[in-house]
Amino acid sequence: MSDDFALAEFLFPEDGPEADYESLYPRRAVSEGVMVTRFAPSPTGFLHIGGVYTALINERFAHQSGGRVLLRIEDTDRKREIEKGAEMILEALSQFRVFFDEGVTAEAGEGGGETGVYGPYRQSLRGRVYRDHVKALIRRGKAYPSFATTGELEELRRRQEALGADPGYYGEWALDRDLTFEEIRAKAAAGAPYVVRLRSPGSPGERVGYQDLIKGPLEMQANVQDVVILKTDGLPTYHFAHVVDDHWMGVTHVLRADEWLASAPVHLQLFEAMGWAPPQYGHIAPVLKAEGSSRRKLSKRKDPEAAASYYAELGFPEEAVREYLMMLMNSNYEEWRMERPDAPLEEFPVSFDRMSAGGALLDMNKLADVSKNFIAGLSKEDLYRRIYDWARRYRPDFADILDSDPGYGAEVFHIEREAASPRKDIAKWADGPEVFGYFFDSVFEGAAEARGPLYPEGMKDEDVRAILRAYADVADVADDKNAWMEKIRVLCDGLGYARDKKTYKKAPEAYKGQIGDVTMVIRVALAGRRTSPDLYEMMRVMGRERVAARLGA
Ligand code: GLU
Repeated sequence: MSDDFALAEFLFPEDGPEADYESLYPRRAVSEGVMVTRFAPSPTGFLHIGGVYTALINERFAHQSGGRVLLRIEDTDRKREIEKGAEMILEALSQFRVFFDEGVTAEAGEGGGETGVYGPYRQSLRGRVYRDHVKALIRRGKAYPSFATTGELEELRRRQEALGADPGYYGEWALDRDLTFEEIRAKAAAGAPYVVRLRSPGSPGERVGYQDLIKGPLEMQANVQDVVILKTDGLPTYHFAHVVDDHWMGVTHVLRADEWLASAPVHLQLFEAMGWAPPQYGHIAPVLKAEGSSRRKLSKRKDPEAAASYYAELGFPEEAVREYLMMLMNSNYEEWRMERPDAPLEEFPVSFDRMSAGGALLDMNKLADVSKNFIAGLSKEDLYRRIYDWARRYRPDFADILDSDPGYGAEVFHIEREAASPRKDIAKWADGPEVFGYFFDSVFEGAAEARGPLYPEGMKDEDVRAILRAYADVADVADDKNAWMEKIRVLCDGLGYARDKKTYKKAPEAYKGQIGDVTMVIRVALAGRRTSPDLYEMMRVMGRERVAARLGA
């Protein structure tokens, strides 16, 4: 028995690595061009909108090619994991309707539910799989245990700094590389904790080339570091875990955030050490935010719009968010959409060469426009149902108001949407209470004090009252638009206001004001604001009693 072999047995006495992974995880029969992709979030915080973007990219490429996309939870960093982290991610993904063919699911169950035969799909449940493969590497002399303490590593860093050497654990600096089996056995027997490191075959100055699906051909410094593959807690690092998983789960294309680009040489080296062909990598540029004239990465800490939940809480329809993410994904998407306004987005042929290598700028105004257009196309019932469902969850007080008269709410949100150019004042469901709140009596009454200053400047209270009193006598929501208009003109004649602007301009001194002042008074009395949908339409929706009550008040 060679020392390496004996060492592997000593460190990992459990059976293996003979476990027959080939039959446990049978090769997927995928033909040329078919992509198996995955989204592999770590449950260390809320899901970033960039995460939804990455998930959608993986979903689109897989399904477009006739392949599969799987969801793997990368929870090997126990220190950074947050409670309910995986659940939050699953919920956000389902809110934006990014669906997976296999992997972790939202169903409850021991360690969460999952579907698919390549599981478990939560890395924390795959400890044995990783250890078997670490053991295999040790047997072949490609990995070794390292007992260096934090203090020793710190000391190493200081010496390297003093000598101007590159930092890290590599080459002749990798002290535990050459420990003998006897030394290892003694340390381990004394209970010293250890990590397992790759014995990197890279040499300084060596370059590796590879073709990135998104960034194109790249040449990078080969890895020389003896990177940690198994931590003291017996769980693997990301580097090692994703190599083992992507191999056995049959992933053909790894499409991930470009913060991982710098570690690609490590990953290629690990695939080589295992004797496996690597998947193809595509590194996705981050979602950016404009700040002044510069752009920066969206920040999880500083930018509320970085959280996927932000969009759900404000009630951006999931269709609009996905539509917008498609625009970020491929530069030719908008043009395609213009030519096919009604085609499902799944028909758009996504391509790597239309993806930005630098970063996709998140423009909230643009998203709002996309969303307004989408909402403008919804039926009255659908629109009401969506606003209601959103309110039930995020604004129950408003949902209660809607409940008191559901037919009314539907008419309110639908106002002026049947016109040739429909109103587009709703970009998100939170605009329901925001933009249309005053239609509802309890909201309207709550804001009563604020109304006074809204009446036309310089108009006396008694004039306001005279207009409202006179109008209350004649107003009838059943009038057609002409009859309605004529009543207001007659009202103007009677109270000394010009019946149109032109007349007023000819002889302003002859009048108290003009028709616009009169309609403004009525509008403020009815809506409590100076802008609203068309006054006539508004009165029809509000109905006889509400109009009478508000004019009378
Ligand atoms: N767990 C890694 C992350 O959340 C995934 C990277 C990858 O997709 O491979 O950043």
